[in-house]
Amino acid sequence: MANVARDFFIGLSNNQFLNTRAKKWGFFLGADKFVAGTTIQSVMKAVKELNARGISCTLDNLGEFVSDKTEASQAKDKIITLLEAIHQENVDCHLSVKLTQLGMDIDQNYCMVNIREVLDAANKYGIFVNIDMEDYAHYEQTLDILSVLRRDYDNVGTVIQSYLFRAEDDLQDLQDVRIRLVKGAYKESAEVAYPDKQAIDRNFVTLAKQRLLGSAFTSIATHDHHIIDELKAFVAENHLDNDQFEFQMLYGFRNDLQQKLANEGYHFCTYIPFGDDWFGYFMRRLAERPQNMNLIVKDVFYT
Ligand code: FAD
Repeated sequence: MANVARDFFIGLSNNQFLNTRAKKWGFFLGADKFVAGTTIQSVMKAVKELNARGISCTLDNLGEFVSDKTEASQAKDKIITLLEAIHQENVDCHLSVKLTQLGMDIDQNYCMVNIREVLDAANKYGIFVNIDMEDYAHYEQTLDILSVLRRDYDNVGTVIQSYLFRAEDDLQDLQDVRIRLVKGAYKESAEVAYPDKQAIDRNFVTLAKQRLLGSAFTSIATHDHHIIDELKAFVAENHLDNDQFEFQMLYGFRNDLQQKLANEGYHFCTYIPFGDDWFGYFMRRLAERPQNMNLIVKDVFYT
């Protein structure tokens, strides 16, 4: 049953008609609980509130299915304006970007020009840029682009998904790169990814422990308190340095746990999406946790 719900919401997340319509309709279904408005101003307000509570942030200007250069170029300009705002407002915040938003599906060289412009601006202000990992169809291209970028920039990293069989090997190649470790949000074939949740969770813990014993910074991105507790114990047992890692969660999820971890002295970073292209992001969140439907029902009936 859980798999049926997951497939249903992932199917919706890929529906281009609904994605386009939702941009025009604006937020509904309670999406505003998980997306910090549509403007740079609205997201900055959310960042300042979290910073004031000892939580740093990473910002995602939402955007999916970018298939023409005008749209990709507009996205790049908005991201650069966002970097300028982060600098001017002096907030504790970095950036997350998706390469398809910068034109990876249009032309790899064109995407490379765009991401270099973004990294140049970020470099100028000393801001780190994390390249989000999308579905497996974009995986190798993303790692190829990262390896070229790493020759010229050290303020860039990416995401590795523990549902992929190859995750461990890829992390070996990325030992000196700042990485966000996640379980993986897309529907992938059993040829490349573990189909069952237990195996994905186990691999997440194994990979997180390997990273924690290494030297590069790791963002441990999960809402799973069992895993978080296990990793906290591992850090304590091995006398590891809290400055080598942070926990990350998505905006609007488990706010109490986010604050608790920050209060306990761990580095904590909230991933904040904003913008009007919210539909695909929101449907993937429902795919992960259909219980979030409760929030929708409450939103529809009680507001
Ligand atoms: P799950 O495996 O969904 O849940 C595990 C357990 O945690 C649940 O059984 C429950 O006990 C508890 N739990 C989870 N959520 C809640 C909740 N809301 N309330 C109460 N209990 C809860 N995926 C990508 O593919 N690419 C990316 O670039 C990417 N970036 C991400 C960035 C961040 C900061 C985060 C947090 C996730 C990102 N993801 C990304 C999504 C990720 O891959 C997972 O799909 C998502 O995080 C769900 O897995 P989970 O470990 O958080 O929890």
